[in-house]
Order: sequence, then structure tokens, then C-alpha cells
Amino acid sequence: MAGEDAIAIIGAGPAGAAAASVLAGKGFAVRVYEANRRLGAKPCGKGIPSIGDLPVRIPRDSIVRRIKGAVLYVNGSLAFDVEEGLEGVIVDKERMLEAMIAESGADLIRGAVFKPSKGAVRIGAKYFEVKRGLLAGGHAFYPGETINALQYRLKSPMFENLDKLLIYFDTWLIGYYYIFPGPSNEADVGVGGFARFNDLQALLDKFIKTSEYTRNAVILKREGARIAVGGVKLGTTGGLPRIGEAAGFVLPLTGEGIRPSMISGAVAAEALASGRNPLDSMDKSSIARGIRVQRRILEKVKSMSPERRAELLKSIPAEAHAMIALGKIDRGSLVKVLARHPRLLARIISLL
Ligand SMILES: Cc1cc2nc3c(=O)[nH]c(=O)nc-3n(C[C@H](O)[C@H](O)[C@H](O)COP(=O)(O)OP(=O)(O)OC[C@H]3O[C@@H](n4cnc5c(N)ncnc54)[C@H](O)[C@@H]3O)c2cc1C
Repeated sequence: MAGEDAIAIIGAGPAGAAAASVLAGKGFAVRVYEANRRLGAKPCGKGIPSIGDLPVRIPRDSIVRRIKGAVLYVNGSLAFDVEEGLEGVIVDKERMLEAMIAESGADLIRGAVFKPSKGAVRIGAKYFEVKRGLLAGGHAFYPGETINALQYRLKSPMFENLDKLLIYFDTWLIGYYYIFPGPSNEADVGVGGFARFNDLQALLDKFIKTSEYTRNAVILKREGARIAVGGVKLGTTGGLPRIGEAAGFVLPLTGEGIRPSMISGAVAAEALASGRNPLDSMDKSSIARGIRVQRRILEKVKSMSPERRAELLKSIPAEAHAMIALGKIDRGSLVKVLARHPRLLARIISLL
């Protein structure tokens, strides 16, 4: 098969597309093998809450809305309206991935399924050995803890001018509901958390019936998937280093996976290009550190009563919410915020 010496990227999601962009941009021959015919088909809210630290450019015509912050509700009451640090976008994920891969110059082979037991990709009835590459196959390859997430695509005039992400914590559930505006008058409204799929569905149905934004909306589509929340788990599968959600590059408290997966893909690709070990480079990345801190916080939160969870959520200052939520947590900036909020200092530092 032509291009046998090319670097193989398994999976054309955000991690695979970012890795392909970096490697092809450095002049390597790259082949992206994608099991599906359509890209970005996996359920996703498509929100990237901060674009400042993205390692790759988001193609302009894939941006469907600009986001200028997030509004957080705790048990139905408004808790915070956060703008600082949250300048993001909602994307048309399929269009973004198609454009990123096409612009990179990498080859994209659809309907190509990687089989780890054979260390090979199956295309039609034939197998092609993969000698060098990265595995960006998403949550199905993740060896850690996952939770359920369910979302509906809704249509309502209420979403037309929405330029913030709406997050609703219900502290009886370890998780949250979200309203992420989409194109024109549509939004993805979902819930993710530590609960069974049927229970989440009942909770989401109730939320949609009662929330002022959604109670008169029309449901266009229902979909669900799992999210890796167990933190970074580096390693190889079928001989390939895992990147993106397959390696746990998802922020465990928020379920945000597009930006972390892209960053991990770019970090791994840089390492591969310069002969370094991609696993070591991802391990040392600041996004891996942010994910580890969030995972520790999640462990604590899981063991708290709903009342203590509500108290903790409300006691975190707005500026720290964005920093923690985005996984941009380094001791220096945290200490600066907490110097202004001394009573919180001991509680949070003890989690690091
Ligand atoms: C309901 C829901 C809502 C979400 N909302 C958001 C959000 O708003 N913002 C956000 O940042 N994150 C969100 N996430 C998380 C985000 O979707 C993922 O973390 C992110 O897409 C992971 O990127 P990835 O490239 O690692 O994997 P994926 O996006 O899962 O891509 C993996 C690709 O690999 C392909 N593949 C799988 N197996 C094989 C194989 N054997 N051979 C070849 N190809 C294969 C798949 O078809 C897929 O195209 C959400 C998740 C869910 C479930």
C-alpha cells in the first residue's frame, strides 16, 4: 500500500486531528485512519471554553458561536457569572475536524479500523501493519473510570442570543447539567455524572421541563456516550502510545475533552517528531498536571455530603472557578487568588 512509511494516526477526533496537523506541518507523511465515514459523529456539546492555549488553529468557518463566559447555578440559584479567562467557541465539530485534517495535508482514510490485537488497520478485507504512530481512538480505548453523559439537541428562540455556557450543579448528583448554545436557535442540553443512564435520562427530562431556557423548546435529537474521568492513564495499546481521551486527557470535574485532547495530541506529535518519548512528554505537560489536580478534587467531592458540596461550590471565588474548571491550576496563580481569599487557602492547597 502506498504511504506505508507514513506515521499512522488512529482516529480523526480532536486528538488525532491535532497530532496530524503538527506532524504534517513539520513535513512528515501522515495517514489518519478513521473507523467511521463521518468525522465528529460522537455525541459532544462542542464547546471549547478557552481558546488561548490551543496548540492548533480552529478553522474559522467551523466556529458557530463565540462564548464570553459561563453562568453557574447551584441547586437552582445563580451562584456566579464568570467572564475572566473564559473566551471560547462552540464549533461545528465535523467541519472543524474535516478542515483541520484537509489543511494539514495528511491523508485521511475512512472506514479503516485499527485492531490492537493485530497491531494493524483493517481496510475492507485487508490488514495493514502499523509500525509507527499514535492511538487517538477515544474513550473506548481508555483503561480508567468513565461516567455516562446524555444530551439532547433543542431548538428555541431562547438560545438565539446566548453567548455564555450555562452550568447547573445539582449537588445530589455528582455531575451537572449544561446548556451550550449551538448554531442559530439551537443548543445542546445535557447532563453528565455518576449515575446510571436511565437515572440521568429521568433527571435531564425533568431539568428540561423546568428550566426557563428549555421548557418550551423542541427536542430535535437525543444521544449519549461515556466520558473518561479517571484522569491521565498513559501507556500503549496495540504497540501505539495513546493520546487524547484514550489516555484520559479529559478534565474530570467538567468533562471538557476537546482542548485537553488536542493539547495532548500536539505534545505527543512534537515529541515523536523530535525523537523523544511521547508518553514522557505528555506526562510532564501542564494539562496533565491540571487533570491530576481535578481528579484529586473529584475524589474529595465524591466523599462529601450534598450539603458540603453545595457549600464548597459557593465558597470558591469566581476567579478561582474558571482557573480550576479549565485545569490551568499552578500553585503560583492559585496562591495569588487565594491570598485574596485566605479562608479558602488551606482547604484547596490541601488537595494539591
Ligand atoms: C455528551 C458529551 C458531551 C461532551 N461535550 C463536550 C464539550 O462540550 N466540550 C468538550 O471539550 N468536550 C466534550 N465532551 C468530551 C469530548 O467529546 C471528548 O473528550 C473529545 O472528543 C475526545 O477527543 P479524542 O480525539 O480523544 O476522541 P474522539 O473524539 O472520541 O475521537 C476518536 C475517533 O477515533 C475513531 N475510532 C475509534 N476506534 C477506532 C478504531 N479502532 N480504528 C480507527 N478509528 C477509531 C472514532 O470513530 C473517533 O472518530 C463531551 C462528551 C460527551 C459524551
